[in-house]
Amino acid sequence: MKSIVIGSGFGGIAAALRLKAKNHNVTLIEKHSDLGGRARVFKKNGFTFDGGPTVITAPHLIQELFELFNKKSENYIELAPLKTWYRFIFEDGMKFDYSGNENQMKKQIEKINKEDVNGYEELVKFTKKIFDKGFTELADVPFDKLLVLMRQLPALLKLKSYKSVYSLVSTYIKNEKLRRMLSMHPLLVGGNPFTTTSIYGLILYLEKKWGIYYSMGGTGKIISGLEKLMIEEKIELIKGHEVINIISSNNKIDGVKLDNQKEISADNVICNADPPAVYEKLLTKKKFSPLFQWKKKRMHYSMGLFVYYFGTKKTYDDVEHHTIKFGDKYKEHLDDIFDNKKLNDDISYYLHRPSATDKSMAPEGHDCFYVLVPVPNNQSTIDWSTEGDKMKNLIINKMEKALLPNLRENIVEDFYLTPDYFEKELNTKYGSGFSIQPKFTQSAYFRFHNKSEICEGLYFVGAGTHPGAGVPGVLSSAKILDKIL
Ligand SMILES: Cc1cc2nc3c(=O)[nH]c(=O)nc-3n(C[C@H](O)[C@H](O)[C@H](O)COP(=O)(O)OP(=O)(O)OC[C@H]3O[C@@H](n4cnc5c(N)ncnc54)[C@H](O)[C@@H]3O)c2cc1C
Repeated sequence: MKSIVIGSGFGGIAAALRLKAKNHNVTLIEKHSDLGGRARVFKKNGFTFDGGPTVITAPHLIQELFELFNKKSENYIELAPLKTWYRFIFEDGMKFDYSGNENQMKKQIEKINKEDVNGYEELVKFTKKIFDKGFTELADVPFDKLLVLMRQLPALLKLKSYKSVYSLVSTYIKNEKLRRMLSMHPLLVGGNPFTTTSIYGLILYLEKKWGIYYSMGGTGKIISGLEKLMIEEKIELIKGHEVINIISSNNKIDGVKLDNQKEISADNVICNADPPAVYEKLLTKKKFSPLFQWKKKRMHYSMGLFVYYFGTKKTYDDVEHHTIKFGDKYKEHLDDIFDNKKLNDDISYYLHRPSATDKSMAPEGHDCFYVLVPVPNNQSTIDWSTEGDKMKNLIINKMEKALLPNLRENIVEDFYLTPDYFEKELNTKYGSGFSIQPKFTQSAYFRFHNKSEICEGLYFVGAGTHPGAGVPGVLSSAKILDKIL
C-alpha cells in the first residue's frame, strides 16, 4: 500500500511513522527544506529559536512513536519536567506561579480569594471528568459519521459542553484574576475562552495528569529525533517541494503533483496541510456538494499570531521559563482579536525563555526568548508590512516596563513572524495560528473529517481535523489513522 503524507508538522510526521509501522510504503513531502511546520527551528548567531510549540504535554504520545519500532525515545530526545509551569503576571504587578504542586496552588489562591480554594478543588474534579471523556475516550476516535457524535451527545451535554471554558470556570471561581488564569487554556489551541466549548477545559487536567515538559535542546530536537527515526525506518522524505495538486479520478485518489511537475501515484494521500487550504487549492478540479461548501464557508478561524524572537546580550535570571502577562482588559481585548478583527494596544502576551532551563539555547552570558501576542487573523486585512514594526515596538515597551528592564539596548538578534508568514509559508487559510477555532459547532463531527467526506483515499491529520490543535491533539489525530486506514 503506497501512502503519501503532505506536510511535516507533528501530525504529519506521526502519521508517516504510524503508517510505516503498518507496512505502508510511505513518502512524506514537505514544502520547506526543513521539517516541523509550526515546530520549525530558526538558528541565528548562536541562538536557537523554536518557532512554535514550547510547552510539551502528554509526552507518552511522542514516546509511543519510537516504541512502534521497538526503539527507546531516550536515545533520541530528552524531555525534562518543569517545576513552575507558568508564571502569570497581572497588570497591577501581582504574580502567580502555576504548577502541579497543589499545596502551593491552593496557598496562592487563598491569598487572592479564600472562598475560591474550594471552587478550585471542585473545578479540577470536574475537568477530570471532561478529560476522561474528551481525551481518554474520544481524542483518537474518528468522528466521520454523525451517529458517532449522536451517541456521545448525552454525555457531552452532561459535561456542559454547550458552555464556554470561561463560563464553566466562572461557575466555580469568583475572583476575576483566577478566572482568567484558569480559563486561558483555549488560547493555547487557538480559541477564545469566552466561546470555546468547555470540552477544552480538559487541558487544565491533562497538564496535571502528566505534567509539563521541556525538550532539552528545544522542541526542534524532538523533530530532528523523529526525522532520524523516519530515515532509519526508510520513510522517503522529499523536502523543499510543495504539492500543487492532488490528483483524483472517479472520486478516488490517484496521487499528487509537485511544484517541479513530477507526479507520484499513491493509494492514499494524508494531508497534514491545513484542510480548508487543501480543499480550496489542491483539489481544484473537484466539485463539492452544497452541504460541504456551506460547512467550509461557515467555519470560524483561530486568531493570528505575532511572534517576536529575540536574543539579549545579558541574562534576565529572575524571568521564568514560561510567563503569561495579562493586559488590563481581557474580554474586550479578545473581542477585538476574534470578532472586531482589529489591533489593540492593551495586549496580553506569552513570553518564552528556554535559556532559563537550557543554556545551550543561547551563547554564553546571553538569553534567548520569544514573545507571542495573539492578534487578528488575516480576515482583518491588517497590513503587516507597516504594522509589524509598530507591534514589535509596542511589545518591547510593554516588556521593558513589566519584566525586562532596558531590553531595547540589550537586544543583539531579532526577527518576527506575522499572520502573513502563516498564510504564505505554512499555507494556512487567513494566516490563522491554529487552523479552525475549537468551538462546539466546529468540534468532532463538525470539524474537517479525518477520513475525507469528499474523496476516497484522502485523509487528514493535524490541527484542522479531529481532535484539534496543540501537539497532543495533532499526535492523537494521527492515531486515528490506525483505526481507519
Ligand atoms: C507560536 C506557536 C506556539 C505554540 N505553542 C504550543 C505549545 O506550547 N504546545 C502545544 O502543544 N502546541 C503549541 N502550538 C500549537 C502546535 O504547534 C500546533 O497545533 C501543531 O504543531 C500543528 O501541527 P500540525 O501537525 O497541524 O502541522 P503544522 O505544524 O501546521 O505543519 C503543516 C506542514 O505542512 C506543510 N505544507 C502545507 N501545505 C503543503 C503543501 N502543499 N505541500 C507540502 N507541504 C505543505 C507546511 O509547510 C507545514 O510544514 C503552538 C503553535 C504556534 C504557532
